[in-house]
Amino acid sequence: MGGLRGGQPPSTVAPLAFLPYPNADAPSEDLIARCVHCGLCLPTCPTFAVLGVEMDSPRGRIRLMKNVWEGRLGADAAAFDDHMNTCLDCRACETACPSGVEFGKLVEGARSQIVAARNASLGERVIRFVALDALLPHRRALAAFARFSYLSKRLGAGAALRAIGTVSHAARRLAGLLELVPDQAPTSEGLPRTVAAHGTRRARAALFGGCVQRAVFGATNAATARVLARNGVEVTVIEDQTCCGALHAHAGERDGARALARRNIAAFERAGADVVVVNAAGCGAALKEYGWLLKDDPAWHDRAARFASTVRDATEYLAEIGLREKPGPVRAKATYDDPCHLLHGQKVREQPRALLAAIPELTVVPLVEADWCCGSAGTYNVTRPELSRQLLERKVGHIKSTGAELVVTANPGCLMQIQSGLRREAPAVRVVHLIDLLDEAYGAS
Ligand code: SF4
Ligand code: SF4
Repeated sequence: MGGLRGGQPPSTVAPLAFLPYPNADAPSEDLIARCVHCGLCLPTCPTFAVLGVEMDSPRGRIRLMKNVWEGRLGADAAAFDDHMNTCLDCRACETACPSGVEFGKLVEGARSQIVAARNASLGERVIRFVALDALLPHRRALAAFARFSYLSKRLGAGAALRAIGTVSHAARRLAGLLELVPDQAPTSEGLPRTVAAHGTRRARAALFGGCVQRAVFGATNAATARVLARNGVEVTVIEDQTCCGALHAHAGERDGARALARRNIAAFERAGADVVVVNAAGCGAALKEYGWLLKDDPAWHDRAARFASTVRDATEYLAEIGLREKPGPVRAKATYDDPCHLLHGQKVREQPRALLAAIPELTVVPLVEADWCCGSAGTYNVTRPELSRQLLERKVGHIKSTGAELVVTANPGCLMQIQSGLRREAPAVRVVHLIDLLDEAYGAS
Protein backbone atom coordinates (compact mmCIF):
# COMPACT_ATOMS: atom_id res chain seq x y z
CA MET A 1 0.00 0.00 0.00
CA GLY A 2 1.21 3.51 -0.72
CA GLY A 3 1.10 6.38 1.76
CA LEU A 4 -2.21 7.40 3.30
CA ARG A 5 -3.09 10.93 4.31
CA GLY A 6 -4.45 12.33 7.56
CA GLY A 7 -7.98 13.76 7.91
CA GLN A 8 -11.62 12.67 8.12
CA PRO A 9 -13.05 9.63 6.27
CA PRO A 10 -15.76 10.08 3.64
CA SER A 11 -19.21 9.13 4.93
CA THR A 12 -19.91 6.31 2.49
CA VAL A 13 -16.98 4.04 3.32
CA ALA A 14 -15.96 2.22 6.46
CA PRO A 15 -14.58 4.57 9.10
CA LEU A 16 -10.90 5.28 8.61
CA ALA A 17 -8.45 7.23 10.67
CA PHE A 18 -7.29 9.10 7.58
CA LEU A 19 -8.59 10.72 4.41
CA PRO A 20 -7.65 8.43 1.51
CA TYR A 21 -7.55 11.17 -1.11
CA PRO A 22 -5.66 14.39 -0.48
CA ASN A 23 -8.34 16.91 -1.51
CA ALA A 24 -11.85 17.62 -2.79
CA ASP A 25 -10.93 17.03 -6.44
CA ALA A 26 -10.94 13.29 -5.66
CA PRO A 27 -12.89 11.04 -8.06
CA SER A 28 -16.55 11.40 -7.09
CA GLU A 29 -17.92 8.50 -5.07
CA ASP A 30 -21.35 9.07 -6.63
CA LEU A 31 -19.91 8.63 -10.12
CA ILE A 32 -17.94 5.56 -9.01
CA ALA A 33 -21.12 4.07 -7.54
CA ARG A 34 -22.83 4.24 -10.95
CA CYS A 35 -20.54 1.48 -12.24
CA VAL A 36 -22.31 -1.89 -12.06
CA HIS A 37 -19.22 -3.80 -13.31
CA CYS A 38 -21.06 -5.06 -16.41
CA GLY A 39 -17.94 -4.86 -18.58
CA LEU A 40 -19.77 -3.45 -21.64
CA CYS A 41 -17.11 -0.74 -21.86
CA LEU A 42 -14.20 -3.18 -22.10
CA PRO A 43 -14.32 -3.87 -25.87
CA THR A 44 -14.26 -0.13 -26.59
CA CYS A 45 -11.20 0.64 -24.45
CA PRO A 46 -8.01 0.97 -26.53
CA THR A 47 -5.62 0.41 -23.61
CA PHE A 48 -7.46 -2.76 -22.60
CA ALA A 49 -7.36 -3.94 -26.23
CA VAL A 50 -3.61 -3.42 -26.49
CA LEU A 51 -2.53 -4.47 -22.98
CA GLY A 52 -5.25 -7.04 -22.11
CA VAL A 53 -5.01 -6.10 -18.42
CA GLU A 54 -8.19 -5.60 -16.36
CA MET A 55 -6.59 -2.73 -14.42
CA ASP A 56 -6.01 -0.97 -17.74
CA SER A 57 -9.73 -1.15 -18.53
CA PRO A 58 -12.36 1.38 -17.39
CA ARG A 59 -13.87 -1.13 -14.95
CA GLY A 60 -10.46 -1.97 -13.49
CA ARG A 61 -9.51 1.68 -13.12
CA ILE A 62 -12.80 2.43 -11.35
CA ARG A 63 -12.06 -0.49 -9.02
CA LEU A 64 -8.68 1.07 -8.21
CA MET A 65 -10.28 4.46 -7.49
CA LYS A 66 -12.68 2.70 -5.12
CA ASN A 67 -9.79 0.87 -3.49
CA VAL A 68 -8.22 4.21 -2.63
CA TRP A 69 -11.50 5.45 -1.11
CA GLU A 70 -11.60 2.25 0.96
CA GLY A 71 -8.02 2.67 2.16
CA ARG A 72 -6.69 -0.43 0.39
CA LEU A 73 -4.33 1.58 -1.80
CA GLY A 74 -2.64 4.96 -1.46
CA ALA A 75 -3.27 7.78 -3.91
CA ASP A 76 0.53 7.94 -4.22
CA ALA A 77 0.93 4.23 -5.01
CA ALA A 78 3.00 3.55 -8.14
CA ALA A 79 0.38 1.12 -9.50
CA PHE A 80 -2.38 3.71 -9.11
CA ASP A 81 -0.26 6.30 -10.93
CA ASP A 82 0.61 3.86 -13.71
CA HIS A 83 -2.93 2.63 -14.47
CA MET A 84 -4.49 6.12 -14.26
CA ASN A 85 -1.85 7.67 -16.49
CA THR A 86 -1.90 4.80 -19.00
CA CYS A 87 -5.54 5.77 -19.62
CA LEU A 88 -5.91 7.91 -22.75
CA ASP A 89 -8.79 9.89 -21.24
CA CYS A 90 -10.40 9.21 -24.63
CA ARG A 91 -13.79 8.62 -22.96
CA ALA A 92 -14.84 5.87 -25.37
CA CYS A 93 -16.00 4.00 -22.26
CA GLU A 94 -18.47 6.81 -21.52
CA THR A 95 -20.17 6.29 -24.86
CA ALA A 96 -20.40 2.54 -24.23
CA CYS A 97 -21.54 2.72 -20.61
CA PRO A 98 -25.26 2.05 -20.03
CA SER A 99 -25.04 3.34 -16.44
CA GLY A 100 -23.90 6.86 -17.25
CA VAL A 101 -20.44 6.60 -15.70
CA GLU A 102 -18.67 9.86 -16.57
CA PHE A 103 -15.22 8.37 -16.77
CA GLY A 104 -13.41 11.53 -17.92
CA LYS A 105 -14.37 13.28 -14.68
CA LEU A 106 -13.24 10.26 -12.69
CA VAL A 107 -9.83 9.81 -14.29
CA GLU A 108 -9.03 13.51 -14.20
CA GLY A 109 -10.05 13.56 -10.53
CA ALA A 110 -7.78 10.57 -9.86
CA ARG A 111 -4.84 12.21 -11.62
CA SER A 112 -5.26 15.38 -9.58
CA GLN A 113 -4.90 13.28 -6.43
CA ILE A 114 -1.75 11.61 -7.73
CA VAL A 115 -0.24 15.03 -8.37
CA ALA A 116 -1.25 16.20 -4.88
CA ALA A 117 -0.10 13.03 -3.11
CA ARG A 118 3.30 12.27 -4.55
CA ASN A 119 6.64 14.04 -4.59
CA ALA A 120 7.40 14.69 -8.25
CA SER A 121 11.06 14.77 -9.25
CA LEU A 122 12.69 18.13 -9.94
CA GLY A 123 12.91 17.24 -13.65
CA GLU A 124 9.17 16.54 -13.86
CA ARG A 125 8.32 19.73 -11.98
CA VAL A 126 10.44 21.76 -14.41
CA ILE A 127 8.82 20.11 -17.47
CA ARG A 128 5.34 20.73 -16.06
CA PHE A 129 6.15 24.34 -15.27
CA VAL A 130 7.58 25.05 -18.73
CA ALA A 131 4.76 23.32 -20.63
CA LEU A 132 1.73 24.20 -18.51
CA ASP A 133 2.69 27.56 -16.98
CA ALA A 134 5.32 29.15 -19.21
CA LEU A 135 4.08 28.11 -22.67
CA LEU A 136 0.42 27.14 -23.04
CA PRO A 137 -1.19 30.21 -21.43
CA HIS A 138 1.14 32.65 -23.22
CA ARG A 139 0.26 33.12 -26.83
CA ARG A 140 3.47 34.81 -27.98
CA ALA A 141 5.76 32.39 -26.14
CA LEU A 142 3.90 29.42 -27.59
CA ALA A 143 3.99 30.90 -31.09
CA ALA A 144 7.77 31.46 -30.76
CA PHE A 145 8.17 27.87 -29.54
CA ALA A 146 6.12 26.60 -32.50
CA ARG A 147 8.33 28.52 -34.96
CA PHE A 148 11.49 27.31 -33.22
CA SER A 149 10.27 23.68 -33.39
CA TYR A 150 9.39 24.02 -37.07
CA LEU A 151 12.79 25.54 -37.95
CA SER A 152 14.64 22.91 -35.88
CA LYS A 153 12.84 20.21 -37.78
CA ARG A 154 13.61 21.81 -41.14
CA LEU A 155 17.28 22.07 -40.17
CA GLY A 156 17.49 18.35 -39.43
CA ALA A 157 17.36 18.38 -35.62
CA GLY A 158 15.20 15.21 -35.74
CA ALA A 159 17.99 13.12 -37.28
CA ALA A 160 20.54 14.48 -34.79
CA LEU A 161 18.25 13.76 -31.84
CA ARG A 162 17.55 10.23 -33.10
CA ALA A 163 21.31 9.61 -33.32
CA ILE A 164 21.86 10.88 -29.76
CA GLY A 165 18.71 8.94 -28.79
CA THR A 166 20.62 5.66 -29.03
CA VAL A 167 22.22 6.64 -25.71
CA SER A 168 19.86 9.29 -24.31
CA HIS A 169 16.25 8.72 -23.31
CA ALA A 170 15.54 12.48 -23.25
CA ALA A 171 16.85 12.89 -26.83
CA ARG A 172 14.61 10.02 -27.99
CA ARG A 173 11.62 11.75 -26.40
CA LEU A 174 12.49 15.05 -28.06
CA ALA A 175 12.92 13.33 -31.43
CA GLY A 176 9.43 11.83 -31.00
CA LEU A 177 8.05 15.27 -30.16
CA LEU A 178 9.65 16.79 -33.24
CA GLU A 179 7.98 14.18 -35.45
CA LEU A 180 4.63 15.65 -34.44
CA VAL A 181 5.57 19.08 -35.75
CA PRO A 182 3.68 19.67 -39.01
CA ASP A 183 5.64 19.95 -42.27
CA GLN A 184 3.90 23.24 -42.99
CA ALA A 185 5.10 26.40 -41.24
CA PRO A 186 2.90 27.64 -38.37
CA THR A 187 0.23 30.03 -39.57
CA SER A 188 -1.24 33.01 -37.74
CA GLU A 189 -4.91 34.00 -37.64
CA GLY A 190 -4.52 37.53 -38.89
CA LEU A 191 -8.12 38.22 -37.93
CA PRO A 192 -9.62 41.64 -37.21
CA ARG A 193 -11.57 42.08 -33.96
CA THR A 194 -14.82 41.64 -35.85
CA VAL A 195 -15.59 39.70 -39.02
CA ALA A 196 -18.87 40.91 -40.46
CA ALA A 197 -21.63 38.48 -41.40
CA HIS A 198 -22.49 38.10 -45.07
CA GLY A 199 -26.08 39.21 -45.70
CA THR A 200 -28.59 39.39 -42.86
CA ARG A 201 -26.92 38.70 -39.52
CA ARG A 202 -28.23 35.51 -37.90
CA ALA A 203 -26.10 35.55 -34.73
CA ARG A 204 -22.97 36.93 -33.05
CA ALA A 205 -20.32 34.35 -32.23
CA ALA A 206 -17.17 34.75 -30.16
CA LEU A 207 -14.37 32.61 -31.56
CA PHE A 208 -12.41 30.57 -29.05
CA GLY A 209 -8.96 30.46 -30.63
CA GLY A 210 -7.23 27.78 -28.54
CA CYS A 211 -3.54 27.93 -27.60
CA VAL A 212 -2.01 25.35 -29.99
CA GLN A 213 -4.57 26.24 -32.63
CA ARG A 214 -3.58 29.93 -32.55
CA ALA A 215 0.16 29.17 -32.43
CA VAL A 216 0.29 26.45 -35.11
CA PHE A 217 -2.97 26.40 -37.05
CA GLY A 218 -4.00 30.05 -37.01
CA ALA A 219 -5.20 29.65 -40.61
CA THR A 220 -7.88 27.24 -39.37
CA ASN A 221 -9.21 29.93 -37.03
CA ALA A 222 -9.29 32.37 -39.93
CA ALA A 223 -11.12 29.75 -42.03
CA THR A 224 -13.62 29.22 -39.21
CA ALA A 225 -14.37 32.95 -39.10
CA ARG A 226 -14.81 33.03 -42.92
CA VAL A 227 -17.13 30.00 -42.98
CA LEU A 228 -19.26 31.39 -40.14
CA ALA A 229 -19.43 34.80 -41.80
CA ARG A 230 -20.50 33.25 -45.11
CA ASN A 231 -23.34 31.66 -43.23
CA GLY A 232 -24.62 34.87 -41.67
CA VAL A 233 -22.72 34.81 -38.36
CA GLU A 234 -20.76 37.86 -37.17
CA VAL A 235 -17.53 36.72 -35.50
CA THR A 236 -15.81 38.49 -32.62
CA VAL A 237 -12.18 37.76 -31.76
CA ILE A 238 -11.38 38.36 -28.10
CA GLU A 239 -7.79 39.27 -27.37
CA ASP A 240 -7.69 38.52 -23.64
CA GLN A 241 -8.82 34.89 -23.95
CA THR A 242 -6.31 32.22 -22.95
CA CYS A 243 -5.65 28.47 -23.07
CA CYS A 244 -8.77 26.43 -22.13
CA GLY A 245 -6.91 24.43 -19.47
CA ALA A 246 -7.70 21.00 -20.97
CA LEU A 247 -4.09 19.83 -20.83
CA HIS A 248 -3.80 21.06 -17.23
CA ALA A 249 -6.92 19.11 -16.26
CA HIS A 250 -5.73 15.99 -18.11
CA ALA A 251 -2.43 16.22 -16.27
CA GLY A 252 -4.14 16.53 -12.89
CA GLU A 253 -3.34 20.24 -12.47
CA ARG A 254 -6.85 21.36 -11.63
CA ASP A 255 -5.89 24.60 -9.88
CA GLY A 256 -4.10 25.69 -13.05
CA ALA A 257 -7.12 24.69 -15.16
CA ARG A 258 -9.45 26.63 -12.86
CA ALA A 259 -7.32 29.79 -13.04
CA LEU A 260 -7.46 29.70 -16.85
CA ALA A 261 -11.20 28.95 -16.82
CA ARG A 262 -11.91 32.03 -14.69
CA ARG A 263 -9.94 34.24 -17.09
CA ASN A 264 -11.79 32.86 -20.11
CA ILE A 265 -15.23 33.15 -18.52
CA ALA A 266 -14.63 36.80 -17.60
CA ALA A 267 -13.25 37.60 -21.07
CA PHE A 268 -16.12 35.97 -22.95
CA GLU A 269 -18.76 37.48 -20.66
CA ARG A 270 -17.46 40.91 -21.64
CA ALA A 271 -17.91 40.02 -25.32
CA GLY A 272 -21.62 39.32 -24.79
CA ALA A 273 -21.92 37.06 -27.87
CA ASP A 274 -24.82 34.65 -28.47
CA VAL A 275 -22.51 31.66 -28.75
CA VAL A 276 -18.85 30.70 -28.21
CA VAL A 277 -17.56 28.72 -31.19
CA VAL A 278 -14.49 26.51 -30.97
CA ASN A 279 -12.86 24.37 -33.68
CA ALA A 280 -10.55 22.27 -31.47
CA ALA A 281 -12.42 19.29 -30.02
CA GLY A 282 -10.21 19.00 -26.95
CA CYS A 283 -10.76 22.66 -26.06
CA GLY A 284 -14.50 22.40 -26.71
CA ALA A 285 -14.90 19.46 -24.34
CA ALA A 286 -12.96 21.33 -21.64
CA LEU A 287 -14.94 24.57 -22.07
CA LYS A 288 -18.23 22.67 -21.85
CA GLU A 289 -17.12 21.24 -18.50
CA TYR A 290 -16.21 24.53 -16.81
CA GLY A 291 -19.31 24.13 -14.61
CA TRP A 292 -17.91 20.85 -13.26
CA LEU A 293 -14.39 22.24 -12.97
CA LEU A 294 -15.65 25.13 -10.81
CA LYS A 295 -18.42 23.21 -9.03
CA ASP A 296 -16.93 23.89 -5.58
CA ASP A 297 -16.34 27.60 -6.18
CA PRO A 298 -19.53 29.46 -5.13
CA ALA A 299 -18.37 32.73 -6.72
CA TRP A 300 -17.81 31.16 -10.13
CA HIS A 301 -19.94 28.05 -10.44
CA ASP A 302 -23.07 29.67 -11.92
CA ARG A 303 -21.04 31.88 -14.27
CA ALA A 304 -19.07 28.82 -15.39
CA ALA A 305 -22.21 26.78 -16.04
CA ARG A 306 -23.77 29.68 -17.98
CA PHE A 307 -20.65 30.12 -20.09
CA ALA A 308 -20.43 26.36 -20.74
CA SER A 309 -24.01 26.27 -22.02
CA THR A 310 -23.08 28.76 -24.78
CA VAL A 311 -20.13 26.73 -26.15
CA ARG A 312 -20.48 24.89 -29.48
CA ASP A 313 -18.01 23.05 -31.63
CA ALA A 314 -17.83 24.76 -35.04
CA THR A 315 -19.20 21.67 -36.82
CA GLU A 316 -21.99 21.33 -34.27
CA TYR A 317 -22.96 24.97 -34.61
CA LEU A 318 -22.89 25.06 -38.41
CA ALA A 319 -25.04 21.94 -38.59
CA GLU A 320 -27.41 23.46 -36.02
CA ILE A 321 -27.96 26.72 -37.91
CA GLY A 322 -27.72 25.08 -41.36
CA LEU A 323 -25.46 26.18 -44.23
CA ARG A 324 -27.02 29.21 -45.85
CA GLU A 325 -24.47 29.28 -48.64
CA LYS A 326 -23.83 26.12 -50.66
CA PRO A 327 -20.16 24.99 -50.78
CA GLY A 328 -18.45 24.41 -54.12
CA PRO A 329 -17.31 20.97 -55.31
CA VAL A 330 -14.26 19.11 -53.99
CA ARG A 331 -13.35 16.20 -56.25
CA ALA A 332 -11.69 13.84 -53.80
CA LYS A 333 -12.15 10.66 -51.82
CA ALA A 334 -12.19 11.40 -48.09
CA THR A 335 -12.65 9.60 -44.80
CA TYR A 336 -13.54 11.08 -41.43
CA ASP A 337 -11.82 10.28 -38.12
CA ASP A 338 -13.77 11.28 -35.01
CA PRO A 339 -11.73 13.22 -32.43
CA CYS A 340 -12.40 11.44 -29.12
CA HIS A 341 -13.26 14.65 -27.34
CA LEU A 342 -15.77 15.59 -30.01
CA LEU A 343 -17.44 12.17 -30.29
CA HIS A 344 -17.15 10.82 -26.75
CA GLY A 345 -16.58 14.08 -24.88
CA GLN A 346 -19.25 16.17 -26.62
CA LYS A 347 -21.41 13.49 -28.30
CA VAL A 348 -21.02 15.22 -31.67
CA ARG A 349 -21.13 12.48 -34.29
CA GLU A 350 -23.59 13.21 -37.08
CA GLN A 351 -22.94 16.94 -37.53
CA PRO A 352 -19.43 16.67 -39.05
CA ARG A 353 -20.66 13.92 -41.37
CA ALA A 354 -23.62 16.07 -42.43
CA LEU A 355 -21.25 18.93 -43.32
CA LEU A 356 -19.06 16.60 -45.38
CA ALA A 357 -22.16 15.31 -47.16
CA ALA A 358 -23.00 18.91 -48.08
CA ILE A 359 -19.81 19.28 -50.15
CA PRO A 360 -20.63 18.40 -53.77
CA GLU A 361 -18.53 15.70 -55.49
CA LEU A 362 -16.73 14.74 -52.26
CA THR A 363 -16.83 10.97 -51.84
CA VAL A 364 -16.78 10.05 -48.17
CA VAL A 365 -15.89 6.47 -47.27
CA PRO A 366 -16.24 5.04 -43.75
CA LEU A 367 -13.17 4.48 -41.60
CA VAL A 368 -12.94 1.33 -39.48
CA GLU A 369 -12.52 2.31 -35.80
CA ALA A 370 -13.09 5.98 -36.60
CA ASP A 371 -14.29 6.21 -32.98
CA TRP A 372 -10.94 4.94 -31.60
CA CYS A 373 -8.22 7.16 -30.27
CA CYS A 374 -5.28 7.78 -32.64
CA GLY A 375 -2.86 7.82 -29.68
CA SER A 376 -2.51 11.59 -29.49
CA ALA A 377 -4.66 12.08 -26.36
CA GLY A 378 -3.28 15.37 -25.11
CA THR A 379 0.33 14.62 -24.23
CA TYR A 380 0.03 10.81 -24.40
CA ASN A 381 2.37 10.62 -27.40
CA VAL A 382 5.00 12.17 -25.12
CA THR A 383 4.22 10.38 -21.84
CA ARG A 384 3.47 6.92 -23.31
CA PRO A 385 5.25 6.95 -26.70
CA GLU A 386 5.21 3.18 -27.26
CA LEU A 387 1.48 2.70 -26.68
CA SER A 388 0.76 5.86 -28.62
CA ARG A 389 2.77 4.48 -31.55
CA GLN A 390 0.85 1.20 -31.51
CA LEU A 391 -2.49 3.03 -31.62
CA LEU A 392 -1.24 5.30 -34.39
CA GLU A 393 -0.11 2.35 -36.50
CA ARG A 394 -3.52 0.77 -36.07
CA LYS A 395 -5.18 4.02 -37.17
CA VAL A 396 -2.86 4.47 -40.16
CA GLY A 397 -3.52 0.88 -41.25
CA HIS A 398 -7.27 1.52 -41.30
CA ILE A 399 -6.79 4.82 -43.16
CA LYS A 400 -4.66 3.16 -45.83
CA SER A 401 -7.26 0.46 -46.36
CA THR A 402 -9.91 3.09 -47.23
CA GLY A 403 -7.90 4.31 -50.23
CA ALA A 404 -8.87 7.87 -49.27
CA GLU A 405 -6.68 10.75 -50.34
CA LEU A 406 -8.01 13.02 -47.59
CA VAL A 407 -8.37 12.30 -43.87
CA VAL A 408 -10.72 14.78 -42.28
CA THR A 409 -10.74 15.47 -38.56
CA ALA A 410 -11.48 18.34 -36.18
CA ASN A 411 -8.78 18.65 -33.54
CA PRO A 412 -5.17 19.88 -33.78
CA GLY A 413 -3.73 17.04 -31.67
CA CYS A 414 -5.34 14.34 -33.86
CA LEU A 415 -4.26 16.21 -36.97
CA MET A 416 -0.59 16.33 -35.96
CA GLN A 417 -0.58 12.74 -34.73
CA ILE A 418 -2.21 11.26 -37.86
CA GLN A 419 -0.04 13.42 -40.09
CA SER A 420 3.09 12.08 -38.38
CA GLY A 421 1.93 8.50 -38.94
CA LEU A 422 0.99 9.03 -42.58
CA ARG A 423 4.23 10.89 -43.32
CA ARG A 424 6.04 7.58 -43.15
CA GLU A 425 3.36 5.21 -44.44
CA ALA A 426 1.31 7.12 -46.99
CA PRO A 427 2.76 10.60 -47.62
CA ALA A 428 0.32 11.35 -50.45
CA VAL A 429 -2.64 11.29 -48.05
CA ARG A 430 -3.51 14.76 -46.77
CA VAL A 431 -4.90 15.36 -43.27
CA VAL A 432 -7.21 18.34 -43.07
CA HIS A 433 -9.44 20.03 -40.50
CA LEU A 434 -13.08 19.81 -41.55
CA ILE A 435 -13.53 23.58 -41.37
CA ASP A 436 -10.47 24.12 -43.61
CA LEU A 437 -12.00 21.71 -46.12
CA LEU A 438 -15.32 23.54 -45.98
CA ASP A 439 -13.49 26.83 -46.46
CA GLU A 440 -11.67 25.38 -49.48
CA ALA A 441 -15.02 24.21 -50.86
CA TYR A 442 -16.41 27.73 -50.46
CA GLY A 443 -13.32 29.04 -52.21
CA ALA A 444 -14.21 26.78 -55.13
CA SER A 445 -17.84 27.93 -55.28
S1 SF4 B 1 -10.91 6.82 -21.23
FE1 SF4 B 1 -10.32 5.51 -22.99
S2 SF4 B 1 -8.40 4.52 -22.36
FE2 SF4 B 1 -9.34 5.38 -20.50
S3 SF4 B 1 -10.53 3.70 -19.63
FE3 SF4 B 1 -11.95 4.86 -20.95
S4 SF4 B 1 -11.85 3.86 -22.96
FE4 SF4 B 1 -10.07 3.14 -21.76
S1 SF4 C 1 -19.93 -0.11 -18.95
FE1 SF4 C 1 -20.17 1.38 -17.27
S2 SF4 C 1 -21.17 0.23 -15.63
FE2 SF4 C 1 -20.33 -1.29 -17.07
S3 SF4 C 1 -18.28 -1.78 -16.26
FE3 SF4 C 1 -18.01 -0.13 -17.76
S4 SF4 C 1 -18.08 1.75 -16.54
FE4 SF4 C 1 -18.95 0.12 -15.26
